[in-house]
Amino acid sequence: MQERSGPMNRQDILYWLRERRPEHLEELWQRADNVRAREVGEAVHLRGLVEISNTCRRRCAYCGLGAHRSELQRYRLASEDILASASRAGKLGYGTVVLQAGEDPQLDTDELARTVETIRSRHGLAVTLSLGELGGAALRRLRDAGADRYLLRFETSDERLYAALHPDQPSLDRRLDTLRLSGELGYEVGSGVMVGLPGQSVETLADDLELFDRLELDMIGLGPYLPHPDSPLARGKVDVPATDDQAHSDEITACVMVALTRLIRPKANIPATTALATLCPQTGRELGLRCGANVIMPNLTPRAQRALYEIYPQKACLAEDEQTFHDELCRRIHALGRSVGRGRGDSPAFLARTQAKRQEVS
Ligand code: SAH
Repeated sequence: MQERSGPMNRQDILYWLRERRPEHLEELWQRADNVRAREVGEAVHLRGLVEISNTCRRRCAYCGLGAHRSELQRYRLASEDILASASRAGKLGYGTVVLQAGEDPQLDTDELARTVETIRSRHGLAVTLSLGELGGAALRRLRDAGADRYLLRFETSDERLYAALHPDQPSLDRRLDTLRLSGELGYEVGSGVMVGLPGQSVETLADDLELFDRLELDMIGLGPYLPHPDSPLARGKVDVPATDDQAHSDEITACVMVALTRLIRPKANIPATTALATLCPQTGRELGLRCGANVIMPNLTPRAQRALYEIYPQKACLAEDEQTFHDELCRRIHALGRSVGRGRGDSPAFLARTQAKRQEVS
């Protein structure tokens, strides 16, 4: 029998991860939505996503930007293009821009640091970075320039699966070290996983959730795995661990992961991801927002480059005009009885974590 309230234990987590009946899942959506309302409120925070480079030296087996894609046209935005996107974010009323890229060795840290400083001073926006496994010096330099948050999904907590998916840097520990260092440098820290990767078991998803808690994450992103036809993983070229407990890459499993994440990290910021919106174009955003999510990241990458940031095919938001998409999004948020967030929308988990630390030292 399920507990109606209180913390989740491993058995509860596995129970929900294996539940597929919509009428039974209503209870989980409701519980997650109640915790969401109580802990982070009704506001849905919008983050302007700017994909600043699709150049990548890595060969992550699932990703459409990997170095194996020799035919993909590569781009790197100039500072003035990044600043123009940030200015559009400001005009649309967003409090944050997210600068995301492949692991691009030619992204100049000093130049990017100056861009971050300008975004902070000119537009007063919070800046989130998602640039892969950056070294300590670059993380520090960008933090000193005013970057507020760092996003780096650990993708799976199964070390063997992680190694199979990341042949050129197979150490999960190294990724976790980058997350820890980001926290020590004062970044608000985000991570997450893909749901339904080949070789990923339901037990592994339960491990992922437990790791979210152990890492004390402030932001957690979860989306279904969407095969990219030109990737080694989709082509069956990757030797993933065998499992008779394969997790599904469908909407139910992705939403169960969002809901359980909300129950396990009640104060975290959790996006309704573009991957979920891609899987369910009509309803994906709403589904996420109804089962625990409180953030959406509209795409503000210049249109000329947007289609080239092809981590998976048919990504949502490829064609939309930004203003039209924004108006439609606000309408959909209001239709759910929610409001559009104002200001930076810092993670309450981060505020609680840093306050606790301050009390420890004083
Ligand atoms: N280079 C950065 C940004 C990667 S893209 C980094 O490594 O952090 C951001 C996220 O997209 C990845 O962390 C991964 O979880 C997700 N992603 C990549 N390929 C995907 C796919 N085929 N299906 C679903 N999500 C994918």
